[in-house]
Amino acid sequence: MRDLRWSLSNHIVTLRSALKSWRRVYWRLWGSAHFLFCAACRQPFPCTRHAWCRHHPDPPQFFATDAGCQKPPLPVGRYPCCGERAYRFKVLDEGGGCQFRQHMVCSMDIRETAIYSMLESYRHLIEEEPPQLLFPERLTRLVARGTYSKTFLIYIFLSNVNIKLMEL
Ligand SMILES: [Zn+2]
Ligand SMILES: [Zn+2]
Repeated sequence: MRDLRWSLSNHIVTLRSALKSWRRVYWRLWGSAHFLFCAACRQPFPCTRHAWCRHHPDPPQFFATDAGCQKPPLPVGRYPCCGERAYRFKVLDEGGGCQFRQHMVCSMDIRETAIYSMLESYRHLIEEEPPQLLFPERLTRLVARGTYSKTFLIYIFLSNVNIKLMEL
């Protein structure tokens, strides 16, 4: 459905004032209108966002319930790279991650090969810088609480340095 609040003319005027040249405006529009498919995140992406593939460089660690290994690890854990929560059983993969890398393009047909070679030739004009990612809420570690053998999760909210305990 057409978004009546959005105008192509205004968009081009905004791009022109940000990019300062009509050549850059042309290639930015070209990059927004041509898509490729990423084999890593399994999503289509516009050529302007070639460097926007989000991922966690470290695999998730899942917390053990006891010091010993009698019980299986909990289905919740964290990514060591950034402290973001990780879940073993996820219905949907939102394609998150704490860092950006280039999308991985492979097995292209003739049309996609032509788009990719154009992207490579004019990359400096087409691509947008990825934004800064902020992770205000981080799950840092799991501690066992003494005689009651209850387990608590410690969340450290780095934004306001509050510490909260959540009983499992
Ligand atoms: Zn991470
Ligand atoms: Zn990707």
